[in-house]
Amino acid sequence: MNRRKLVIIGGGAAGLMAAGQAATTGAKVIILEKMKRPGRKICISGKGRCNLTNSAPVEEFIEHFGKNGRFLRQTFSRFFSQELVAFFEENGLAINLERGGRYFPASGKAPDIVNIFLRWLSSLNVEIQENTPADKLSVKNNTITGIITPRGEITCDAVILATGGASYPATGSTGDGYKLLQTVGHSIIPVRPALVPLEIQGGIHPALAGLELRNIEVQLFIDGKKKRQLFGELHFKRFGVSGPTILTLSGDAVDGLRAGKKIELLIDLKASLNRQKLDNRLIRDFEKRHRECFADVLRGLLPAQMVPLCLEQTQIPAHKPAGEISKKERKTLLHWLKELRLEVTSHRSFKEAIVTAGGVKLAEVNPRTMESRIISGLYLAGEILDLNGNTGGYNLQAAFSTGWLAGDSAAK
Ligand SMILES: Cc1cc2nc3c(=O)[nH]c(=O)nc-3n(C[C@H](O)[C@H](O)[C@H](O)COP(=O)(O)OP(=O)(O)OC[C@H]3O[C@@H](n4cnc5c(N)ncnc54)[C@H](O)[C@@H]3O)c2cc1C
Repeated sequence: MNRRKLVIIGGGAAGLMAAGQAATTGAKVIILEKMKRPGRKICISGKGRCNLTNSAPVEEFIEHFGKNGRFLRQTFSRFFSQELVAFFEENGLAINLERGGRYFPASGKAPDIVNIFLRWLSSLNVEIQENTPADKLSVKNNTITGIITPRGEITCDAVILATGGASYPATGSTGDGYKLLQTVGHSIIPVRPALVPLEIQGGIHPALAGLELRNIEVQLFIDGKKKRQLFGELHFKRFGVSGPTILTLSGDAVDGLRAGKKIELLIDLKASLNRQKLDNRLIRDFEKRHRECFADVLRGLLPAQMVPLCLEQTQIPAHKPAGEISKKERKTLLHWLKELRLEVTSHRSFKEAIVTAGGVKLAEVNPRTMESRIISGLYLAGEILDLNGNTGGYNLQAAFSTGWLAGDSAAK
C-alpha cells in the first residue's frame, strides 16, 4: 500500500482539499495550520454564507482570472465545479444554486463547509497540527525532505504549500508562503491587494457613507482612457467606494495607481435611461411639479442621501421652483446624473482585500500536477499562486481544484 508521507502547510480551502484527496489516494497526511483552527477564511467567505463555486462553463470560468486563467485549464479538467458540488452533496451538505450561477450551502452557513472537511479528514486519519506554523522548508539537492516547525523537523516525501495569499491577515493568510518559497529559489510576482475597496479624492460626502446603489453603471478611466465598464451595485463608504462593481474594477485601478496613472470612475446613476429619455423625464417632472422646490423634485429622482451632493455640485439652488429651472441647469443636472465623476487616489490595504494579486510565478509550476519546477516533491496550491479571479465563487473553486490536483499528484 502507498504510504507516502505528505505534509500540507495551511489548512485553508486548498490545503483541506489536498489533504483529503491525498489521504483517499493512500498517503499518510499531516496538515500544519498556524491558527487555532483550520478554515478561518472559508468561515467568513461570501459574507458568512460561502459562495463556494459558480455554474459558469469552464471557458467562461477561466476568463474570470484574466490572462493567467489558462493555467487552470488542466486542473479544471480533473476537478471542477460539478465535482465540487457533488463532493459536498455526497458528504451530506445540500447546495443551492443562486442568481449569477453562484453556489452556496443550503444552510446559508459557511462553517458547514469546514465541518464537512473536518469530518472527512478525520475519517481518513489525517492528522491536523493546529497552532503549528511552518517556519522553513528543508531541501537537499533541489528535493524537499521536510519542514521545520517550532516543535522541530518533520521529515516527509512531499510537501504541499497552501498558505494562501496576504489578504485578510487576521485569518492566518499573512504571506508566509512567499518567504518560504523565495528562500528555496522560487520567483514571486509582486503581491498587491485585489477585490479591494477604493479611496476617493477628499473622501466621500458625509451624507453618502453607507448608501448602497443598485442598477448603476461604473466606467473606469485610466489616464483619461476608458478601460472597462460594469453594471450593478456600488456601495459608498466613509473613505470611498466598494461593492461588486468596484471590487471587480479594483484590480485594474490598483495596477494603474501603482504605475502613477490618473484613475477616475464615472458613475451613471440612471443607467436604464439614455440621455434623451432621461431629459424627457426631467422635463416631465419639472413641468408636473413646477411649484415644488428643486430639492423636493430631486428626492423623487435620487436616494435622499445623494441630494446634498447633487445640490453642491450642480449649484442649482435647492429652493428654486422646479418650473423655473433653466434649460442650462437641466442639462447640468442631466450630465451629473449620467457622469458623476470620482477621482480614485488610493486603495485599501490587504486587511480589506478579498484576494491577493501576484504570487508564485506560474511558469515555475507544472499545471498538470501542481509540482514546483524548481524543487521536486514540493507542490503549490490555492491563492499562493499568481492567480486571482472575480467575485462569484471563482477563487474558492480555484483553491479547491488546485488543492485536489496537488493532493492527487503528491500522493502518487
Ligand atoms: C472576506 C472574504 C470573503 C471571501 N468570499 C469568497 C467567496 O464567497 N467565494 C470565493 O470563491 N472566494 C471568496 N474569498 C476568497 C477565498 O476565500 C480565498 O481565495 C481562498 O480561501 C484561498 O484559499 P487558500 O487555501 O489558498 O488560502 P487560505 O484560505 O487563506 O488558507 C491558508 C491557510 O494557511 C495557513 N497558514 C499560513 N501560513 C502558514 C504557515 N506558515 N504555517 C502553517 N499554516 C499557515 C493560514 O492560517 C490559513 O489557514 C473571500 C475572501 C475573503 C477575505
